[in-house]
Amino acid sequence: MIRFEQVSKVYSGGFQALQKVDFHLGKGEMAYLTGHSGAGKSTLLKLISVMERPSDGRVFFNNQDVSRIRRSQIPFVRRRIGMIFQDYHLISTRSVFDNVALPLVIDGYRHQDIRRRVSAALDKVGLHGKDRYFPPMLSGGEQQRVGIARAIVNKPSLLLADEPTGNLDTELSMEILRLFESFNRVGVSVLIATHDTGLIDSSRYRTLTLHAGRMLTGEAR
Ligand code: ADP
Ligand code: ADP
Repeated sequence: MIRFEQVSKVYSGGFQALQKVDFHLGKGEMAYLTGHSGAGKSTLLKLISVMERPSDGRVFFNNQDVSRIRRSQIPFVRRRIGMIFQDYHLISTRSVFDNVALPLVIDGYRHQDIRRRVSAALDKVGLHGKDRYFPPMLSGGEQQRVGIARAIVNKPSLLLADEPTGNLDTELSMEILRLFESFNRVGVSVLIATHDTGLIDSSRYRTLTLHAGRMLTGEAR
């Protein structure tokens, strides 16, 4: 699903965020990406979704080298990836329905299909009946569920989550983890960047560890 080959990233100011990173995430696999703040976790995720380009090396997504694709091809890659963020990235002045529908609207789905799919996505994250709410009316855990519904609404093959439980307490974090597991069970690959050791210790997924831009190991912490 994802393969990094000797990937380095030097930001324009000269800071080296990643150094010769090699790793692989299998199709249908769920794994954690961990490391201290500043270790390069977000940068690694951004290279997969082509929000950033590597300075060196290759990034493969579904056997396609996305590090070199043309700008016009980027939306086609992003369409197959669902992204989830620590601070949810919801539009607070739009309803839950509109927030979740956004990727489908952008892709030009028909109104009828949008209704059906948004409703199915909200069901899957346990937010049935909340479609008319606005994000500020919801709890943090519920807002993250909206973020997850938006990420899965167009059935991506990969979910990338950047500190998805960073603003949630332990119990809510576990609920969010269960949701990721439910999508992983139907074949979705999941990569979760987190320094939430409670979350990591609670399950037995492979843990990829970054330390100052270097990948320590793909098997253990
Ligand atoms: P993490 O997600 O593990 O906290 P990041 O990938 O966000 O790490 O950041 C790694 C390093 O790269 C940090 O030192 C950060 O300051 C730097 N960095 C991140 N984005 C940029 C950018 N756009 N320009 C310059 N430096 C950046
Ligand atoms: P429908 O045709 O009703 O939109 P599909 O037949 O395409 O649904 O999918 C069947 C089921 O597969 C979905 O209800 C869902 O549980 C699961 N599924 C497959 N891929 C994904 C994905 N990327 N995200 C969430 N669920 C998925």
